Amino acid sequence: MTDDIQQVEVLVIGAGPAGATAALHAAQQGYEVLLCDSAPFPRDKTCGDGLTPRALKQLRDLNIAERVLPPFRTDGLVLHGFGSDIYAPWPDSIFGKEGSAVPRQQFDHALVQEAIRCGVTFWGGAKARQARVDHGRLEHIQVGEKLIKPKFALVCDGVRSPVGKELGREWQQQEVYGIAARSYCTTPRAEEPWIHSHAELRSEDGKIQPGYGWIFPLGGEQGKVNLGCGALSTSARPAKINTKKLLEFYAAQQREEWQLGAPEQVTSALLPMGGSISGVAGKNWALVGDAAALVNPLNGEGIDYGMESAQLAVMMMASQKNPDFRRQWPEILRAEFGTAFLLGRTIARALTLPRFLPIAGSLALKEPIGPRLMPVAARLMGNLISEEDQDLVARIWRATGHSATSWRYIRRQLGRSITPLWGEQI
Ligand SMILES: Cc1cc2nc3c(=O)[nH]c(=O)nc-3n(C[C@H](O)[C@H](O)[C@H](O)COP(=O)(O)OP(=O)(O)OC[C@H]3O[C@@H](n4cnc5c(N)ncnc54)[C@H](O)[C@@H]3O)c2cc1C
Repeated sequence: MTDDIQQVEVLVIGAGPAGATAALHAAQQGYEVLLCDSAPFPRDKTCGDGLTPRALKQLRDLNIAERVLPPFRTDGLVLHGFGSDIYAPWPDSIFGKEGSAVPRQQFDHALVQEAIRCGVTFWGGAKARQARVDHGRLEHIQVGEKLIKPKFALVCDGVRSPVGKELGREWQQQEVYGIAARSYCTTPRAEEPWIHSHAELRSEDGKIQPGYGWIFPLGGEQGKVNLGCGALSTSARPAKINTKKLLEFYAAQQREEWQLGAPEQVTSALLPMGGSISGVAGKNWALVGDAAALVNPLNGEGIDYGMESAQLAVMMMASQKNPDFRRQWPEILRAEFGTAFLLGRTIARALTLPRFLPIAGSLALKEPIGPRLMPVAARLMGNLISEEDQDLVARIWRATGHSATSWRYIRRQLGRSITPLWGEQI
């Protein structure tokens, strides 16, 4: 080994919510941590900027919620469509009853600052590349101008995961994924404490579009909403929409009601979801966050799952003398997120069928079913049920998820077509 190689205990590649959180947890566990990102910070990230109560709990558990979040909070979700406007407040659970929304440029930067406060070394504008792997072990990797030899590496390099690809990551595109665009629009209603989702998007000729729209207020300080739209897709049934055009059209439809300014900073991106990635770990490295498709297929939420998976990876690393991520990491992901993601994927896949949404939407959202069903659906979609909840919905959900019979039944029904959850053939 030459003097040019710098050894580090934990290298975290990518400083989005997954990477910054992983670095923070690792520093709190006493590791020497190098966090790098190819972009100089602060940087923008295409996102809806929405934080559910699950995400707020992560921030509270880390004791950083007050510093990272502005005071703006949301009370829940309003679902619009098929003649209904249904309010679904965040349910009362261990996650709390508050959400928020913060532009990612601000949120991700604040998280990185917290990691630095904890002793993490941060290199912005330092791209990781040219990974050298030997028998499943990441030996060294170029980071900016330096060659780094990490004891452990947590690869949090996002949806395209260039380092993950070098390490053997594969994205199963036959499984459901999202395509989406977002923008920022000025509005006098930026303080409204509800996030809005429109399930029925129609074109000028009245045809239902295969997508959905969202409006997430960002609080009075910002004076803006994050407005976007997306659609679910598979390689067999690709969504044939131009998300940026659909966004302009959606914004025009909402302009009067929200007194919206023109959409600004319009960007679009893909969202692999529901664990549709294989090759998520090697001996001393693991993919975390979007790199491992840790996005809830039912609501597109990935910030929280990035943060949760970051904590799990650090806990695994810290709890063993010689941890080996290869077998354990996919098992941990399946145990923690498998049931919710598998059920989510199944429903999301049904939503890619052209006739499913118009029929299911008009049944599920309309009176008298809608107002009763949708708050329950929003709770399930947000994965906002915990082991502690004792109400009927929670008990049925747990029984379904935990029952070996129903688990086997789901697997049998889907076995022919469903692709692996983090590499598991089912
Ligand atoms: C349109 C859209 C709307 C969304 N809305 C929401 C929402 O409202 N709420 C929600 O919870 N989730 C939402 N998501 C999902 C959410 O944005 C992601 O799940 C989340 O950003 C995942 O965080 P991450 O840290 O894994 O990855 P990222 O946030 O993408 O961070 C990855 C980082 O890695 C860096 N990087 C990449 N390559 C390298 C390299 N070679 N070397 C060093 N660094 C590298 C990148 O610069 C980046 O900073 C949305 C996604 C999209 C596309």
